[in-house]
Amino acid sequence: MRVFKFGGASVKDADGIKNVYDVLQKVGYEDVILVVSAMGKTTNALEVVIKNYFDKSAELNSSVQEIKKYHNQILLDLFDDENHAVFGAVNAQFEELEYFLAHNKSPNYNFVYDQVVSFGELISTNILSHYMNFRGIQTQWLDVRNFIKTDATYRDAEVDWEATQQLISKNVPRKILNITQGFLGADENNFTTTLGREGSDYTAGIFAYCLNAESVTIWKDVPGVMNADPRYFENASLLNQISYREAIELAFYGATVIHPKTLQPLQKKEIPLYVKSFINPLLKGTCVSKGVDLEPQYPCFIVKREQLLISLSSIDFSFIMEENISEIFGLFHEFKIKVNLIQNSAISFSVCVEDKFGNFNELNAILSKKFKVEYSENVTLYTIRHFTEQAAETVEKNKEVLLKQVSRETMQIVTKELN
Ligand code: ASP
Ligand code: MG
Repeated sequence: MRVFKFGGASVKDADGIKNVYDVLQKVGYEDVILVVSAMGKTTNALEVVIKNYFDKSAELNSSVQEIKKYHNQILLDLFDDENHAVFGAVNAQFEELEYFLAHNKSPNYNFVYDQVVSFGELISTNILSHYMNFRGIQTQWLDVRNFIKTDATYRDAEVDWEATQQLISKNVPRKILNITQGFLGADENNFTTTLGREGSDYTAGIFAYCLNAESVTIWKDVPGVMNADPRYFENASLLNQISYREAIELAFYGATVIHPKTLQPLQKKEIPLYVKSFINPLLKGTCVSKGVDLEPQYPCFIVKREQLLISLSSIDFSFIMEENISEIFGLFHEFKIKVNLIQNSAISFSVCVEDKFGNFNELNAILSKKFKVEYSENVTLYTIRHFTEQAAETVEKNKEVLLKQVSRETMQIVTKELN
């Protein structure tokens, strides 16, 4: 079996969905399972609904209506006959969502989040399945909650591999095009859970693992995995092949092409992962598999913006030792500040961090009692895997280099733009 994953961007409008049909025509759809995300930015829009719900905002109803309108327009563009059963079917899903919002009694934010946000995937797969049938491709719509079993950690559920393995290998039909939801699962009590934002890739990995699939393909609006983000680098090029290990490294440093959790189940069974263009589905794209680290051997660039470079030094010239370091890390953890790079010398300690939740000022007040704290805001962290002199020069050009760290395969450079 082959597992195909189509993300939100690939099904953001009627043309996108028609294109899924074209892709399937070109690459075949027998013995395939499609894992599909919510359409376009629907998950974000549902997060607004959840916020309105908890804020008891007057906007609650209109935020739901907006999502309804968006899907309805897609239906109108896809099906010329307004009496087609899909209109009623999607409407019933929205009624179910509205019923939940009107009757729910649980004050648990994460629980409510999962029950609400899951409608994005349930609706998108419903539409897709109807559309494929309409175009003559027989499909089987699967409710993923009958297959992926998880614990009850809402918004970040842990997969129960044993139960999931059994259900998938027993109950997924073969020889037909299966369509199911990414991102979702169900707990023991059959409440909906989710696997964390952008979790649909992971869903594809779970199915592939349990089905001993021949491959997974993630269909994207880019030709495959590039050695740099084309938005920031002029000469970004396609990588033909990367190893699981390299892909995990790239994800670790912040490359966002492949969700890191996805790779673990695939690596275990050596199932290749292809990243391909849904615009040119017959092109080779990138293959992530066992074997050569990287082909071609280009340096790979990963950029993290809006970082904070903090230097701590001891006030009395004493050494910064294990106990200080563990205390400092404890504080970063407590204040939800993510550390992306560390460098230390005898009396100073530098970290490049991401302060996503704006907690640094509060933390700084605590740190300043014990250390001399210096920091630069709004710096950029570049990571170059398989660096070369020339690659480093490209990064450093026209910038002030604040810190540089080199290991065998990886160079990290913290810079400040010169204006
Ligand atoms: N729709 C979910 C999200 O946007 C899952 C995914 O797209 O992978 O996070
Ligand atoms: Mg999405």
